Amino acid sequence: METTLVLLKPSCVQRQLIGEIVHRFERRGLRIAGMKMMQLDDAILREHYAHLVDRPFFPTLAASMQTSPVVALALSGLEAVGVVRAMTGFTNGRKADPGTIRGDYAMSNQQNIVHASDSVENAAIELRRFFRPEEIFDYKSGVFDFLYGVDEALQ
Ligand code: UDP
Ligand code: MG
Repeated sequence: METTLVLLKPSCVQRQLIGEIVHRFERRGLRIAGMKMMQLDDAILREHYAHLVDRPFFPTLAASMQTSPVVALALSGLEAVGVVRAMTGFTNGRKADPGTIRGDYAMSNQQNIVHASDSVENAAIELRRFFRPEEIFDYKSGVFDFLYGVDEALQ
């Protein structure tokens, strides 16, 4: 099983889409292992978007991420990192495929509803950035035996 980090960005919170987006992850069969609302400060955004701090759009990105709290989610499942990333879709909502979250809810390259970890390594780093260990819960889903085949469940 993998666990990945999702942030429901201010574009999601302000547009009152929290329930809809969480519902999509639940319907897919991902288990919510952690969930909390947070107001992000400059320090955590500079760390989280370290690969982008020198880009011209970084100041507007950081500002947009502080216009309201975000909702941090830890989502668990088999190959959860890749599954969630595929559900998220291409960065620019105008280019994202219909059926993906960005392709269904976003018209923007910046106000694109969700962040999702892009690799197993980054998921581990990002989960530590947004959650304390005791805020991530390891419990067995009541429908586990119907989400996975017996052989898969051993992975
Ligand atoms: N972003 C932006 N302008 C750009 C590219 C990215 O404002 O030209 C923002 C956008 O909100 C994106 C975030 O920076 O989600 C992180 O960029 P990244 O390339 O990591 O895309 P993601 O992994 O979110 O698809
Ligand atoms: Mg990224």
